[in-house]
Amino acid sequence: MEGGLHDRDRVGVQDAVLLEDYLSEEAFVNNLERRFKEHLIYTYIGPVLVSVNPYKDLNIYTSEYIKEYENRNFFETSPHIFAITDNAYRSLKQEFREQCILISGESGAGKTEASKKILQYIAAVTEHRGVVEKVKEKLLQSNPVLEAFGNAKTNRNDNSSRFGKYMDIQFDFQGLPVGGNVINYLLEKARIVNQHKGERNFHIFYQLLTGATEDELSQLYLKRNLRSYYYLSHGGDSNVDNIDDAQSYKEVRQALTTLEFPDEEQNDMMVIIASVLHLGNVGFSEEDGKGKVTKLDAIQNISKLLGITESELTHALTHHTIDARGDVITSPLNREQAIYARDALAKAIYDRLFSWLVTRLNDSLQPENPKRNVVMGILDIYGFEIFGKNSFEQLCINFCNEKLQQLFIELTLKSEQEEYLKEGIEWQHVEYFDNKVICDLIEEKHKGIISLMDEECLRPGNPNDKTLLMKMNDSFGCHKHYISHEKADIKLQKIMGRDEFRLIHYAGDVTYNINGFLEKNNDLLFRDLKEAMSHSTNKIMNSIFPPGEYKNKKRPETVITQFKTSVNELMDILMDKEPSYVRCIKPNDLKQPSIFDVDLVKHQTKYLGLMENLRVRRAGFAYRRIYEKFLHRYKCLCKETWPNYRGEAKDGVQVLVNALGYDKEDYRMGKTKIFIRFPKTLFETEDAFQLK
Ligand code: ADP
Ligand code: MG
Repeated sequence: MEGGLHDRDRVGVQDAVLLEDYLSEEAFVNNLERRFKEHLIYTYIGPVLVSVNPYKDLNIYTSEYIKEYENRNFFETSPHIFAITDNAYRSLKQEFREQCILISGESGAGKTEASKKILQYIAAVTEHRGVVEKVKEKLLQSNPVLEAFGNAKTNRNDNSSRFGKYMDIQFDFQGLPVGGNVINYLLEKARIVNQHKGERNFHIFYQLLTGATEDELSQLYLKRNLRSYYYLSHGGDSNVDNIDDAQSYKEVRQALTTLEFPDEEQNDMMVIIASVLHLGNVGFSEEDGKGKVTKLDAIQNISKLLGITESELTHALTHHTIDARGDVITSPLNREQAIYARDALAKAIYDRLFSWLVTRLNDSLQPENPKRNVVMGILDIYGFEIFGKNSFEQLCINFCNEKLQQLFIELTLKSEQEEYLKEGIEWQHVEYFDNKVICDLIEEKHKGIISLMDEECLRPGNPNDKTLLMKMNDSFGCHKHYISHEKADIKLQKIMGRDEFRLIHYAGDVTYNINGFLEKNNDLLFRDLKEAMSHSTNKIMNSIFPPGEYKNKKRPETVITQFKTSVNELMDILMDKEPSYVRCIKPNDLKQPSIFDVDLVKHQTKYLGLMENLRVRRAGFAYRRIYEKFLHRYKCLCKETWPNYRGEAKDGVQVLVNALGYDKEDYRMGKTKIFIRFPKTLFETEDAFQLK
């Protein structure tokens, strides 16, 4: 690269396609490591950007960097998130092609930071004036709000997004941002009532308790002492280095104001947050098998905050009404059931509040003139998950990743085909692993795992996790990608429990534990509680618990079916867009800079499917370059092209490759680019160039 910021980038190869030993994971990871050690965190696999989290500020997102990448050809500059963004933005602006940037990687790998850099870049390179300025401000400010309510400290990431997010930025015909839209996926609501050791509840609780004024707190009947709240007590110490909750609270309130949430609405939100905290403090005793509320002050607080009578609240928390074919029967809950009901209520309130927030945010981001816009979507979603113990949530997440992989294959092949067509080159068939068979195993109508699960959930009698697993083993025992305990080989049987099943995903094998599947899929909230909540005087509660909801005879869809529907809708949204890919990698589990744990990175290379990306890329013409660029670099290798070729660059390149003795099968001449099949050909040319 001639001059500037890109000169530093001379370590290893910028594009893994250029690795000689491209089938070797060893070589791939080694290249990442060498670059990482020199603070070169970005590397390409063709058009895919691989990003390794540096865990420190590298000073590579400054305005100089933005200038360096603005309007530059993708392959002229060194790999960077700005290069990907600029490339996508230019295609959108110049060719009106809708874009999507798909970011994947495990928790803590840098997905959310990457999405923020994309937004930062777009905001910087678009005009600064009037309406646009306001829209950009709102788009940027939606982040702290969503993070306050949807992020939490986990053991893997101090600011971990606990929901999936797809965000559209909408541009007008001049390429100026005029609006946006957010879709949220599967908030991890179990966190509301329980946290692992060392983890926290969602940020907003700590922000409110540390950042609100005394006045505000007393109006919410809250004490500043975090330890007073049961729902915040499970993780232990709640202080996190680098997080200033009190400061964040001010920023969040400010952001809400920028997003045009009136004060009254902001207060209603905080009332709900406070109510959830009080709800956690409601205790129960048991007399004659009947649960009784013990902590009356908590009930009093909620009652005052939400405007629901104490008696209705108490009754709803300790009773369960069912409508059995027209006979309405109310029966008391025992202590354990009452605790379950309380927690289900807290989770439902928070989950619905979060969805309300996203909807409300979207109102504020709506463009004034929604027609004729072109969009750039950014997907920041949980990557493939394999833990020691995998449950229902992992099945949902991994299913989503299977679908994304399928989309990746389709879109990559499609865009390759398009480029070949555009350049007038004959299409080459590429072999790849088609994961449709796994997607089908999970989602196929009437036959797949999801259907079976729903069937079991709805079955009268006494369906439970055991009966579900039995049915699954019966139905899928012979499927190539499903392994039951019974069918497992001896070695596997030793590590697999009888309450587990195993799926062979494209990215690896995952053993799922069936316990909790039915309950999580049903996600039941007793109608007594829904009814009580619908009587609240709080406007937001009123809209998230609409009156009469409990009367709805139709069962709400199960969690996994709702998720499947939204994933398939997402696929439709992404399908007709031009994709860019960012694959994020976490270099160590310690959140530390400068440590590159080779085994950990290999693990992620596998689950991100990077070697497969590389293989597919190498299967066709691995390397392509604009004629002008190619000629400019290598013209010194041939008399006829040095110092300048008089004539078309394409002809110059032809003269050059003839002189270099390229085999006819090794390259193709497109309309604007030369396509080289084996990077080896290019290496030899590059070697000759270096020797010169
Ligand atoms: P994910 O969304 O994949 O779970 P995040 O984007 O939240 O991960 O990143 C986790 C943390 O890693 C961030 O809070 C930040 O401290 C650090 N980090 C991530 N990407 C970068 C980057 N490009 N430069 C510096 N630090 C980063
Ligand atoms: Mg995140």
